[in-house]
Amino acid sequence: MNSADVRQMREWLSTPQRIVLIPHKNPDGDAIGASLALYHFFQAKGHHVDVISPNDFPEFLKWMPGAEAVINYEKKSHQAKERIGLASLIFTLDFNSLNRIGSLSDALQDLQADFIMIDHHQSPENYARVCYSDVQMSSTCEMVYHFLASLDALDQIDKRIANCLYTGIMTDTGSFKYAATTATTMRVVAHLMEQGATHTEIHRHIYDTNRPERLQLLGCALQNLTILPAYRTAYITLSQEELDRYHFQKGDTEGFVNYGLSLKDVVLAAIFIENRDEGIIKISLRSQGSFSVNEFSRAHFNGGGHTNAAGGRSELSLEETTKKFEGLLPGYQKELNL
Ligand code: 5GP
Ligand code: MN
Repeated sequence: MNSADVRQMREWLSTPQRIVLIPHKNPDGDAIGASLALYHFFQAKGHHVDVISPNDFPEFLKWMPGAEAVINYEKKSHQAKERIGLASLIFTLDFNSLNRIGSLSDALQDLQADFIMIDHHQSPENYARVCYSDVQMSSTCEMVYHFLASLDALDQIDKRIANCLYTGIMTDTGSFKYAATTATTMRVVAHLMEQGATHTEIHRHIYDTNRPERLQLLGCALQNLTILPAYRTAYITLSQEELDRYHFQKGDTEGFVNYGLSLKDVVLAAIFIENRDEGIIKISLRSQGSFSVNEFSRAHFNGGGHTNAAGGRSELSLEETTKKFEGLLPGYQKELNL
């Protein structure tokens, strides 16, 4: 954060504020971790704080300290709108475009509140008075740590805050292995452990609380894997019928896309998941090396994200969507075979 933004933040936070914290739709460990870390921090400083999520979040994140206080906009839009209307500061966390929060964006029009963005995705929109955006960062949770450092508040990181931030850094870095993991990330994580983060427990909560149906859904997804060696690409599909068969719950498909990328020589992996309720195919894309799935998704699937991890959507059928995807690959033959 630049020094003018730090001064502005200090000035705002020197008197009690009504703060609303907003993660993106279908929030992941990073979005919820950043929201709940700031929730505990601001509450301890005497501010009034609400976390408002555009929709529900997965069961494997519900153990997080403060998770029970999150207001789900889909279920409690009246209460959420009331809190937003009263807010003096609104933090948008782990996203940078208001179309990432679905219909919750309608509730953010014509407000008096000042907006603060903390985010690590590419191409930030221009809606925030304080825009702390850094695409080099491993995670929004790492940025929240640096945000606290710039407020000289690192000593106020208690066990709850440490666990929230650790969770987001761990989930967004694939347990500290992705390229965006730096020596600084590791120093941050070390400090979080010193402040009480319980790493073994967190790992278990996130990765080792499977239901048998989820493993069977993974089996189905892997059966559906298509490999296209000429384009060093692999993709998975899951139809609504298949999701229903294995009693799909929110979060069950998290990480499935990475199996495609685990194949030797594959540099582009995708998963296409049918969502009959929303009438869309939700797409996750991952790449290895220089192929930018952020640009690919922006250009063809109404989405975005990072160079090596992005998401998008399609309003075509599942079959038409994969046909479109396969049809695009010849145009990228060179980039995919570098
Ligand atoms: P995932 O595939 O895990 O849902 O998302 C991968 C990355 O892309 C995350 O950083 C996520 O925030 C971002 N992302 C996912 N879906 C979308 C989307 O529809 N639009 C944009 N702009 N980013 C997305
Ligand atoms: Mn993130």
